[in-house]
Amino acid sequence: MVKNNNAADSEAYKGYKGTALAKLKELGIKVWSDVEIATDKGIFKGVILPRSETADDKHIVLKMHNGYNIGVLAESITKADEIGYKEAHYKIPEQEFPKDSEKPNVTLLGTGGTIASRLDYRTGAVIPAFTPGELYGAVPELADICNLETKKLFGVFSENMGPEQYQVLAKAIGEEIEKGVDGIVIGHGTDTMHHTAAALSYMVQDSPVPIVMVGSQRSSDRPSSDAAFNLQCAVWTAAYADMAEVVVCMFGPTSDKYNLLHQGTRVRKMHSSYRSTFRTIGDVPLAMVEPGKLIPVRPGFKKRRKDKKVKIDPAFDDRVTIVYYYPNMKPDIIDSLVENGYKGIVIAGTGLGHVNKPLYEPIKRAVEAGVAVYMTVQTLWGFVQMFVYDTGRDLMHYGVVPCDNMLPEVAYVKLGWVLGHTHELEKVKEMMLTPIACDITEREPFDGYLIMQGGVPEVEEFIGKLKL
Ligand code: ASP
Repeated sequence: MVKNNNAADSEAYKGYKGTALAKLKELGIKVWSDVEIATDKGIFKGVILPRSETADDKHIVLKMHNGYNIGVLAESITKADEIGYKEAHYKIPEQEFPKDSEKPNVTLLGTGGTIASRLDYRTGAVIPAFTPGELYGAVPELADICNLETKKLFGVFSENMGPEQYQVLAKAIGEEIEKGVDGIVIGHGTDTMHHTAAALSYMVQDSPVPIVMVGSQRSSDRPSSDAAFNLQCAVWTAAYADMAEVVVCMFGPTSDKYNLLHQGTRVRKMHSSYRSTFRTIGDVPLAMVEPGKLIPVRPGFKKRRKDKKVKIDPAFDDRVTIVYYYPNMKPDIIDSLVENGYKGIVIAGTGLGHVNKPLYEPIKRAVEAGVAVYMTVQTLWGFVQMFVYDTGRDLMHYGVVPCDNMLPEVAYVKLGWVLGHTHELEKVKEMMLTPIACDITEREPFDGYLIMQGGVPEVEEFIGKLKL
């Protein structure tokens, strides 16, 4: 009865001729009725939502009081009592932000993602809908923190972000800094936030103020949404934190106790649905933050400055790719990249940085053709070490350059940025291996890998005790 993917084939479906709408009429209830319905599978309570365009007409969609939506086969409803009527107005009005000359000035640049989205009941999908002004309408607490100016640069889910958008973003950041803002927040989809964080770490260097990326795993019309807390932490960080780094600011533990600030080149989305999805890899996070309070975890980050100077360097050659090695990868994968004009290949290799023997020759051909080939590790934690086995030595002999402990996605973004400056392989190597914003570190902390950076009580206790 509760809809699943095979509902259309189910026995219950076959004899049913009527539409869900006819059934609602028969029961004397309507869309937006808050109902208690009895079915052969039990009793359900919730609000009847408008049917999505792409859904079948045999089910009704019920928004349960816990916020989850379920599909109920209309035919199976034996009784329905209307307890109320709750028509929802999901459009949040744009609001002018109040100005207070005593407060810091922050600019929020919107790019889209779930943080700027709501559920569209017409299609049943999450769509980018909120402008940054609407975001403020949804989280008025932001006015207690700072003066917020909002600019919508894009309205896309983050899989649609790429070099073109990174460049627009970097230039917009430069303009805001030159205007003298105290901090910048970037609203962004979480899926590729770590790519953009890396791109900005290269394209925006020596910023005098914090550049804080923020998103949400759950849209703000859901009771469990992380949008409001993430925004407040991010806006507070941009306004007050004595820090001038590109960071990602997202849930630390599984609840809204504090956020973690992750360095833009050392962060990765690690869970498809948890709100505490971002983790620092190869290091510990920079700090814990909640509105009004910041506890540094990794000291030594760059501090805020009073000047308005920043280096915007938005170069990018997008003829660069990332190859995730798997056993039995065939040589034609590498050859076809070279034939198609790619100028840079980042390999995510096994273990310490390996690929199978059949790839050696095509890799050699690629390097001879002037393609920059770099090695990272699929393990994410730890360093590429190609001196340990003769296979690694062979690869280096053919011109593969180990990327130390740079994360694969970060190496991919950096290689695009470097190739935007030069194609000369020796210069590419020099730039790639010069650490920027901790993308390569000397060592990884012994406890960084072992602690989960929040989420389990003993870890929170451990982090909580850090007084640096
Ligand atoms: N698919 C969305 C995006 O990355 C997910 C999110 O925003 O969290 O844009």
